[in-house]
Amino acid sequence: MKSNKPLTILGETVLPGESKTIDMEIAKMHNAAKLKIPVIIQRSKFDGPTVLFSAGIHGDEINGIEIVRQIITQKINKPKRGTIICIPIINMFGYINMSRQFPDGRDLNRVFPGRKKGSLASRFAYHILTEIMPHVDYAVDFHAGGASRFNAPQIRLIPGNEQLKEMASIFNAPFTLFSKNIAGSFRNSSQKLNVKMLLFEGGKSLDINDDVAQSGIEGVKRLLSFLGMLDPKHSVHFKETESIYINSSIWLRAKCSGMFHDHNKIGQFVRKGEVLATITDPFGKFERKVKAPNDGYVINANHSPIVYQGDAVYHISKSLYNESK
Ligand SMILES: [Zn+2]
Repeated sequence: MKSNKPLTILGETVLPGESKTIDMEIAKMHNAAKLKIPVIIQRSKFDGPTVLFSAGIHGDEINGIEIVRQIITQKINKPKRGTIICIPIINMFGYINMSRQFPDGRDLNRVFPGRKKGSLASRFAYHILTEIMPHVDYAVDFHAGGASRFNAPQIRLIPGNEQLKEMASIFNAPFTLFSKNIAGSFRNSSQKLNVKMLLFEGGKSLDINDDVAQSGIEGVKRLLSFLGMLDPKHSVHFKETESIYINSSIWLRAKCSGMFHDHNKIGQFVRKGEVLATITDPFGKFERKVKAPNDGYVINANHSPIVYQGDAVYHISKSLYNESK
C-alpha cells in the first residue's frame, strides 16, 4: 500500500484530498491537432491503496469506456481513502477512428511493455507502464468482445493466483474465467510490476449494453467497498449467487457460410446437442442447425448476421472450477 504522500504523475503533483485531470499527450494527430488522453485522479485525505479503472485500450470497445464514464459521473471514483485513477480511453487514436488498433495497425494490448523509441503504440505502452502503473496497487481494465462477438459479463484472471482469485470473487461478475496472460498485454506487464489487475470482458465492440455496464459498475463498487474506499453514500449490492468459475472453454466454429440466426442463449447453461443457432442461405434452400458440442455455459455469442465457414460463433465452458477440484 502506498503512503499518503504527494503523488506525481506525468510531471504533475496531486496532493491528498485533491482531484485533478491530467492530459497525457504522446503524439499529435496527422492534422497537427493535439491528442489528449485524460487521466482523472481523485485522492482522499486519508491513506489507502491506489486503484486504476481503465478502458478503451481497444478503441472500439465502447462498453468498457461507458463503465468508466459511469464510475466518474456517479462519483464512485471519489474515494473514502486512498486514490482512484480513471482512464476511460487509453487508445484515443482508435476511439477517434472507431477502430480496435492504433493508426499504424498495431494492437496496443500486444506491444507492452513497449519501448521509449519504438512504434507509436509501443511508445504509448512504455509511457503508461513507466508513468502510471508504478503508482497502482489494484486495477480493473475493461474490454468488450471484438468483431460482433458479444461476451457475457466476465472477469478474466490467470490461474493459481490466490490474491487475484479473491479480488475476482469480490467483484463477483456473472462469470470468472481462468486464462493465461497473453504476451505483450497490459495485464501481463502490469503483473510484473505487482499490480493486481483484473480484466473485465462484457458486451461487444461498437455497442453500449446497459446490463453489461451495470454488471461492471456493481463489481467495481463491491471491490471498492472491500478495500474500504467506497463512499458510504453509494449502496452496494451483494449478490447471493456466486460467480461461475470456468476452468476451460472452447470456441465453436461455423460449419458452413451463410446467414446466422442466433437463438440468444448468451449466459445460459445449455445441454450437448441443444440448438444454439441456425445458418441459412439467403434463397430459402437450406437451413443448418448449430448445436452445442457439450454441456456448458454460453459465454460469448457471435452477433454477426453473416458468417463464413470457420468463423468462431460461440464460446462455451467446458469444465468448471469446482468440478476439477
Ligand atoms: Zn479488448
